[in-house]
Amino acid sequence: MKAALGKFPNDPPRPYMERAEGMYLFPEDGGKIMDMSGGWNSPSVLGYSHPEVLSAMREQMDRFCHMDHDLWRHRQRDELAELLLSRAPKGLNRVYFAGNSGSEAVEAAMKLSYQVHWDEGKRGKTWYISREQSYHGATLQAMSMSERNILEFYGPIFPPHRARIPQHHPLYHRKDDESLDDYAHRGAGDLEKKILEIGPEKVCAFIGETMLGGLVGDVPPAPNYWKYVKAVCDKYDVHLILDEVYCGLGRSGKVYCCEWDDVTPDFVVVGKALAAAYVPLSAVVLNDSVEKIIAKGQGRIQHGHTHQGHSLGVAAALAVQRVVHREETLAHINAMGDYMRTRLAGELGEHPFYHDLRGRGLAFSLEYECPQQHQFGLAFHRALMEKHSILISAKWHRICFTPAYVITREQADQAIDAVVDTFKQVSENWDG
Ligand code: PLP
Repeated sequence: MKAALGKFPNDPPRPYMERAEGMYLFPEDGGKIMDMSGGWNSPSVLGYSHPEVLSAMREQMDRFCHMDHDLWRHRQRDELAELLLSRAPKGLNRVYFAGNSGSEAVEAAMKLSYQVHWDEGKRGKTWYISREQSYHGATLQAMSMSERNILEFYGPIFPPHRARIPQHHPLYHRKDDESLDDYAHRGAGDLEKKILEIGPEKVCAFIGETMLGGLVGDVPPAPNYWKYVKAVCDKYDVHLILDEVYCGLGRSGKVYCCEWDDVTPDFVVVGKALAAAYVPLSAVVLNDSVEKIIAKGQGRIQHGHTHQGHSLGVAAALAVQRVVHREETLAHINAMGDYMRTRLAGELGEHPFYHDLRGRGLAFSLEYECPQQHQFGLAFHRALMEKHSILISAKWHRICFTPAYVITREQADQAIDAVVDTFKQVSENWDG
């Protein structure tokens, strides 16, 4: 059957999935796979069958599956917004349920930023700045803020008024004679230069992932980097949009990843972990100044989708976030992340292919250096699956660990034993 168009037309059809439970997948061939990727793109933060989430969804389905967001209020939506704000960076006090995917929420934040400037009469602010090697999503707006070689062919149809500054990656871009703080200042300086080059009266917003994600492999920023960036944004009346679709809502060991950086942006974008892939849902967290400006301006937010704030998604997300927001969940994420990194560094730190290990909470990457790096990653991925029935994202230059937050110590040990064994086995006699 080829009726459903797959993304990779040259690949053989993938197996059917029969069911999934906790950290495990049960495909049609009778196998049992441990998922260390958290749903491949990392959204399944509570595993596949969390009883609190499933029961909240069943209760919601008995009430209604979706009620239009503009016409009716939904109690669980208000509760979810309050919960999301209970740990939000100081000053952020509104949640806009912008859509279903992270891309839609990124785009909503960009549009809200533009509308705020527009409603205040600053109509020339049409430029957006992002960083090299970022990923912000698959819609044209979100993609135009991203940088991936395979997407560059879309360039001619990207919206205009986009600019990029260098990536922020202390391991590769800090100069030998530079302290981390100097490097953080230089990064903010790159932004300031770009704003001045374009003209501050033309710049709407700067967008960045609080911690660079899967593309480069979980790179925490230098201390104070985001504070320096925010100061530059404030100086020129440019909004700061932090994209936490990947690193937000517990993934980093804090509810919001930017808590590590002690900064309050103008907009935080969340998705993936919000409803943990039980249902797609995304949101933008912001300050009520946006609401006030729009109330006095056009009187409505000019961004909407039919399914935004989807009621079933909201019910699932409320149950997910009640678990995520518990102190013991966050403590567990940090403890498991620290434990796994310590074991990996201990077992592979001296390996000739080992290059770096970094990240926060349960989002971390092991970077390797060897001939034919990408092929090594793919060979590692295959071997881990074939010999140990463990699924992980390994490609380019890194192995990305994004397991569900419910991972146990025994599962973590099993995964690390298998990763170490496979890493050593694949690297033996590896010449690419
Ligand atoms: N922003 C970041 C940082 C992401 O990692 C992603 C997805 O991987 C997105 C935005 C887009 O989210 P979605 O795929 O749900 O549209």
